[in-house]
Amino acid sequence: MSKVTKELIHPRSIVVVGASNDISKPGGKILKNILDGGFKGDLYASNPKEDEVQGVKSYRNIQDLPHVDMAILAVAAKHCLAVVDFLTHDRGTRAFIIISAGFSEENQEGAILEKQIVEILDETGSCLIGPNCIGVINTFYHGCFTWPIPKLDPNGVDFISGSGATAVYVMELAIPQGLTFNSVYSVGNSAQLGVEDMLEYLDESFDPETSSRVKLLYFEAVNKPQKLLKHASSLIRKGCRIAAIKAGSSEAGSRAASSHTGALASSDTAVDALLRKAGIARCHSREELIVLGALFMHKELNGPNIAIITHAGGPAVMLTDVLSDGGLKVPEISGVKADELLTHLHPGSSVSNPIDILATGKEEQLSACIEYADEQFDEIDGIVVIFGSPGLFSVDTIYDLLDEEMKIRKKPIFPILPSIINAKKEIDDFLAKGRINFSDEVAFGRALVKAYNTPEPAMEEEMPDIDNKKIREIIDGAQEGYLDPESVKALLDVAGIPATKEIVVSQENALLTAIDDIGFPMVMKVVGPVHKSDVGGVVLNVHSVDQAKTEFSRLMNIQDATAVLLQEMLSGQELFIGAKEEGDFGHLVMCGLGGIFIEVLKDVQAGLAPVSLKEVDGMISRLKGKKLLEGTRGQQGINIDAFKQCVSRVSALLGVAPEIAEMDLNPLLGSPERVIAVDARIRIKSMKE
Ligand code: ADP
Ligand code: MG
Repeated sequence: MSKVTKELIHPRSIVVVGASNDISKPGGKILKNILDGGFKGDLYASNPKEDEVQGVKSYRNIQDLPHVDMAILAVAAKHCLAVVDFLTHDRGTRAFIIISAGFSEENQEGAILEKQIVEILDETGSCLIGPNCIGVINTFYHGCFTWPIPKLDPNGVDFISGSGATAVYVMELAIPQGLTFNSVYSVGNSAQLGVEDMLEYLDESFDPETSSRVKLLYFEAVNKPQKLLKHASSLIRKGCRIAAIKAGSSEAGSRAASSHTGALASSDTAVDALLRKAGIARCHSREELIVLGALFMHKELNGPNIAIITHAGGPAVMLTDVLSDGGLKVPEISGVKADELLTHLHPGSSVSNPIDILATGKEEQLSACIEYADEQFDEIDGIVVIFGSPGLFSVDTIYDLLDEEMKIRKKPIFPILPSIINAKKEIDDFLAKGRINFSDEVAFGRALVKAYNTPEPAMEEEMPDIDNKKIREIIDGAQEGYLDPESVKALLDVAGIPATKEIVVSQENALLTAIDDIGFPMVMKVVGPVHKSDVGGVVLNVHSVDQAKTEFSRLMNIQDATAVLLQEMLSGQELFIGAKEEGDFGHLVMCGLGGIFIEVLKDVQAGLAPVSLKEVDGMISRLKGKKLLEGTRGQQGINIDAFKQCVSRVSALLGVAPEIAEMDLNPLLGSPERVIAVDARIRIKSMKE
């Protein structure tokens, strides 16, 4: 259950502790913002030297305050604990925003103070935003000390930011485009409520009738990945759309990369996989975040086919390029209906898409195009109107028309109004109607592609049936570190992952019977060293007893050798499957093609366990080498279904054996008939680690 209290969202009374008449100070500006924002409840100030601050009654001593629902603290960190203690216990205050810095972000002392404050809040059922943040803005109060305050609207976006300064810059970009906000939370140090917790609140309090549907997130660290996954997926399933920036990588570097999997997966891979699984569109810049947010405020695009209506060629062509590159379509429009539309346009216009109404095209032509795209051209799923002004005449009636059309049309209409100087007034009027402007067609096109290609939140799926009891027996009996080849083979067998026939031989006198069993041609591998080829420990195509004997003694002499593994010699396309534990994220499951595809091209896709078959499908289809799996240019493909099954079974195995810290099937050999692992490594860690 979310710790957010109703007092945080809709306080009936607020006190600003540390309020000031100097509006260049946070304690001054925050009071001013609340006053200017027209807060409807009771507002108090507290300042040891004043009886009135900015016209608001001020208490010199907080002991004299009446009950207040919420307190906003803009006093030095060292005073905050006493204030929180008094207000929670003696004044029933249940919501706090601490904007002051000097807590865990500064030093150990600050961290202790922060912890003590949270203890009191948890104990009394109160909640906290901050410390070290810019505050909260919503339709009820403007509780932040920064500027600007965006236009607030119950249908606007909810924006949660792990960085106060970034939140300001995001709003600065958003306001001129017309993006409105329902709420802005700057969580600062996230001492009690972080980005994930606010999302949890938005999920639990979601009301299909009244809640806004677009959420934007900015993270510097994902501290509660499972919470993020749960509530983001849930919100999206309820009809919301979420875009997020995750900046920086918190724990890169210090990792033991002893396997391919380890080296291939950075902590960012896990973030990527998490966001994808949740159905969140990941952005990498403020601009991208804003454009996606703006896009999400429009009707949803339910198919790939876009009609572009314009009076200027260039932007339409650039947009067509981005959309086509990203897998969307700007299909040619032709036929009777297209010819009919042409009769409504000026001579020389083109309806083949982009639909060009020429520089002379006005309301009448634009309106005809929109009507045809919406009602007559069934193949069209969404409409983009690019309409600027060369500065010769006003386009206000055009934008009025556009606004009207956007209200009545079934298909989404996206306005790209590029003339931010020539048509500034007209655009401002358009925005004043609650509309949004995409000023750059390529930025818009990229966002549309991203939104369209972001998968739905993954559905939980029944995992392949594997023998949990046997797996637990093997894992419980294992030591920390790399499993021996027999245990690895046993685990793969129980998990239903096909592995090549193999026999481990440690004495020369057992060699002959093993050879009889495996048969020539055969592969011999040293047991002991982790990277066998690197130490000359893999011999392929062994075809005689003499050769086998010679190689046996050579392999046994390799440093750390404990035995020799005999395998049948197989052929096929080299494939890779890996798994890696990523702390609170759980396990990453990876797959790709082997050989240069992983060594050189790093062509690997990752998903967060448990991965459903649908997610595995997505992983495989995103591989650059996918065509090779399907078969191309006379080359045979592989049994992709069998490959998917292997990935899915690795995921199931991890579910039963979370002690697996790293797992590497490298390679598996794939043919049109089957996929078989010929090399497997599994590293176990103790669950206490
Ligand atoms: P390591 O990864 O420790 O160097 P591998 O067991 O993966 O050792 O062997 C190295 C390479 O030898 C593999 O990538 C594969 O190309 C080839 N290989 C290994 N085992 C077989 C086998 N049973 N049949 C055919 N080729 C094999
Ligand atoms: Mg290998």
